[in-house]
Amino acid sequence: MSQNILKIALDVPLDQLFDYLDNGFDVEIGQRVAVSFGRRKQIGLVVGKSAESGLPVEKLKAIEHAFSDEPALDKPFFRLLKFCADYYHYPYGQALLSALPGRLRQTERAVSRKQFVYRLAPGAEAASIPGRKIVQRRIFAALETNDALNETTLAEISAGWRKAVEEMLSLGLLQASEVLAGLRTGGERLAAPELNIEQTQAIEAICAAPSGFKPWLLYGITGSGKTEVYIRLIERFLHGNDGQVLVLVPEINLTPQLETRFRSRLPHLPLVSLHSNLNEGERLQHWRLAQSGQARIVIGTRLSVFAPMPLLKMIVVDEEHDASYKQQDSMRYHARDVALVRGQQLGLPVVLGSATPALETWHNAESGKYGKLALTNRAVAQAALPEIRCIDTTRNALQDGLTQIMADALRERLARGEQSLLFINRRGYSPVLLCSACHWIAPCMRCSARLVVHLRQGRLRCHHCGHEQKIPPACPSCGNTDLHPTGHGTQRLEQTLAALLPGARVLRVDRDSTQRRHALSEILDAVHANEVDILVGTQMLAKGHDFPNLTLVGVIDTDSALFSPDFRAAERLFSQLMQVAGRAGRAGKPGEVLIQTAFPDHVLFNALRGHDFPVFAGSLLQEREIMQFPPYSYVAVLKAEANDYALVQRFLKYAADSAHGLAQKVMVYDPVRPQMERLKGMERGQLLMHASQRAPLQRLLHALVALLRAHPLNAKVRWAVDVDPLEF
Ligand code: ADP
Ligand code: ZN
Ligand code: ZN
Repeated sequence: MSQNILKIALDVPLDQLFDYLDNGFDVEIGQRVAVSFGRRKQIGLVVGKSAESGLPVEKLKAIEHAFSDEPALDKPFFRLLKFCADYYHYPYGQALLSALPGRLRQTERAVSRKQFVYRLAPGAEAASIPGRKIVQRRIFAALETNDALNETTLAEISAGWRKAVEEMLSLGLLQASEVLAGLRTGGERLAAPELNIEQTQAIEAICAAPSGFKPWLLYGITGSGKTEVYIRLIERFLHGNDGQVLVLVPEINLTPQLETRFRSRLPHLPLVSLHSNLNEGERLQHWRLAQSGQARIVIGTRLSVFAPMPLLKMIVVDEEHDASYKQQDSMRYHARDVALVRGQQLGLPVVLGSATPALETWHNAESGKYGKLALTNRAVAQAALPEIRCIDTTRNALQDGLTQIMADALRERLARGEQSLLFINRRGYSPVLLCSACHWIAPCMRCSARLVVHLRQGRLRCHHCGHEQKIPPACPSCGNTDLHPTGHGTQRLEQTLAALLPGARVLRVDRDSTQRRHALSEILDAVHANEVDILVGTQMLAKGHDFPNLTLVGVIDTDSALFSPDFRAAERLFSQLMQVAGRAGRAGKPGEVLIQTAFPDHVLFNALRGHDFPVFAGSLLQEREIMQFPPYSYVAVLKAEANDYALVQRFLKYAADSAHGLAQKVMVYDPVRPQMERLKGMERGQLLMHASQRAPLQRLLHALVALLRAHPLNAKVRWAVDVDPLEF
């Protein structure tokens, strides 16, 4: 028997495909196989078939098993991941396998048995069925009056249906699609609001555009009705019997909300969500529904940008500026950018929605590369924009982190039975343990970071590596027993508030208080039931939640972000503050935002007071142009770490020297240590490269990565290339 040679992608850190013999299995491109690799059994994906191998055939192993009954992954899936593997300089096999649901990466566990429904293939003619095939004729006739038949119905037609269906499939008369449970549709349909002019214009512009790839920026302040625009677009794009839309959201926490809203407005369209709060079984099932085309709407976080969707018609990226779209390890892709590439490969519109677009996106919209659509007013007429004011902390003394004005404003809300939100910018505001005598601050031994005080548990914790210890009774450096938590972390503020406003019901929302699976939704319920007077929280609260009785947003401490060495800090701060400001005054009650700052005249606050993102974006873009930062340049960082910095240094020196030799039209800097020099016990270093165009940078990276993979230190240093990094 002659054997095919299969080109197989494996989840191994080698940038190549592997040849195996097909072992007589009937396997298609895009299907999964089990192979032995080294001493382990692994799951692989068949990427190609060939009659030849670079290796002598007698040296090739045969695959152990082929999952021939599973639907194969389609060409677009491979094409998208091939692009990403190249662009982000990550091994193709690992990129492919990591885009699959966990269950499909396991060799042992069997995937649940599948059920199919059958439809007539387009153009199928009864005449092509031979006259004596009675069962086939009956099935055909049944399908002329029914859209699809499932196995139970087919069994009622004839006990011999399986053989008949198989023949009809091979004659091209039928199409099979897998059915999976859990695809709910139906239910009450909520009435749609009448669109305002800007919403109508946005929808018409997108629908009227010639078909093909087109990126759109839907720039609309919080509450301006962007989600309503998505809903109408989905309705328009999925009007017939086929078509799928992918909606990306930055946070798992936002999916249930959006899911409910979509289901209540589009109950006839099967919808699934894809995110990491699903168990493995659900995740596989939802993914399969996307792959079969049965899920018409897929709402998902970052990774779902790779979900196979054969009938995809449009992609929506909500809150496109959000940093959580960027994967920070393994393949460091940006889901918004991948969505754009996917739209380009398939010739589809991609709608990027945001109140504070990423500067890259804004720049592209301003320059006409993207279509720009704006919603400038809040959709609910009586919901006015909140008034934003700064409290100058150089003139108003802080007492335990709060100014008198802030305290009075909180008291006022309390007296009126309204709710307040105190917002703390997460980074750097956690309390550290300080010795008042010698100024010792409790450090993490494994990271260049300080330990954070968790008073309630009486523990110190590193937020980077998870290291934990008891709060020491005395300063280890001088023996002083007077150790204070310093800084205004959420827990500390909670205590201040309890002292200042006795009787106020204060609720803290941060990563610690929301770790349990349903904790956040319980918190949100409590807020809606008016069981809370003051919410204290980090940026978790800044996103997407609607609190009708919330009329005050207080911003405690943001100044360090104004002058951060991270060039995106100001952009991020503005976007966070716009989002928290959007929490106030949504349901007819006027809202107020108070910001404590020592720099009330900073351009960021001026723009914020005027709710004027364009002004702020304009000033930031000017700065970026002068500094030649993105979007005026393209950046990549080679990040390396090892337990001995000398190794990192040698590795980066080699990389820098090689890069200098290879570089054409690319700036290669000297290796440096990042802000966080040590993380989880690893010493870190990095090498920055930038260029005014993508192509030369990509060429350099390609050559450089090949050299580094072959370098002897490759095995001793953990390294990665971060293309378009968010932080460096
Ligand atoms: P965004 O996504 O921009 O924050 P939403 O789509 O959530 O805005 O709209 C904010 C609120 O306004 C929602 O309660 C929504 O139902 C309502 N809304 C949206 N469009 C309209 C409209 N044209 N007329 C009345 N209400 C609207
Ligand atoms: Zn001390
Ligand atoms: Zn640590």
